[in-house]
Amino acid sequence: MSRQLYGYLRTESFPTPFCSGCGHGTLMAALIRAINSLSWDMSEMLFVSGIGCAGWIPSPHYAADTLHTTHGRPIAFATGAKLFNPRLKVVVIGGDGDIASIGGNHLIHAARRNIDLTVICANNMIYGMTGGQVAATTPPGAITATTEAGNPDRAFDLCRLVEAAGATYVARSTVYHVVHLVKILKNALQHRGFAFVEVLSSCPTHYGRRNGAASPTDMLNLYKGLCVGLDSASRDSATVQGKILIGEFVRGDRA
Ligand code: SF4
Repeated sequence: MSRQLYGYLRTESFPTPFCSGCGHGTLMAALIRAINSLSWDMSEMLFVSGIGCAGWIPSPHYAADTLHTTHGRPIAFATGAKLFNPRLKVVVIGGDGDIASIGGNHLIHAARRNIDLTVICANNMIYGMTGGQVAATTPPGAITATTEAGNPDRAFDLCRLVEAAGATYVARSTVYHVVHLVKILKNALQHRGFAFVEVLSSCPTHYGRRNGAASPTDMLNLYKGLCVGLDSASRDSATVQGKILIGEFVRGDRA
């Protein structure tokens, strides 16, 4: 990260608690780059997080107001903050366990009501901080601490979920596709209404080592091999089968 960007961070809070090779550090830097490129003042922003490894991305590391809340509830707290001060740019950052599993009800209803929030879900397909338990986003067959014979359930497609609920901006990227990720984050931040960005973020410690991608590089190569851009494949075509689509799925307004 360039010296200029360090102004956005509470450097006294470093090093981060993330494991070596965790994708959350990349996401932390990508969001700072997006904010910097928009020349936004962090004093006019609020970052809200819940419990889980991704909750540490803004709190305590961003030099801004941060609200570190209870497990699964950051969107509810963020909604309250936005209603209290509509001029605040409110950004929620959390993991898939926090935002889409424990807090899934808050997610769909904030999308349904088109609350003016930017919600960034760092999806590592597992509960990381609590030891690698299966989550609502764990792929079928994946090995976790609680599914040693393979996950018997299907996983949520988070982008389709919030799209169906009524979100007016929906996109997916990964910590491998950093330039793409920064562009998506910039667009989400500027969107008026409910903006949701799913970011595939590597957890080599609990997901990778149980599923054939033990090193940080293996995890990034997994994203590289698995992902296909929306521009190069229609959403339901055969080329998408078995792949993960990245790009902007919804970008609009709602009356
Ligand atoms: S447990 Fe996983 S998600 Fe949590 S810090 Fe370690 S690598 Fe990152």
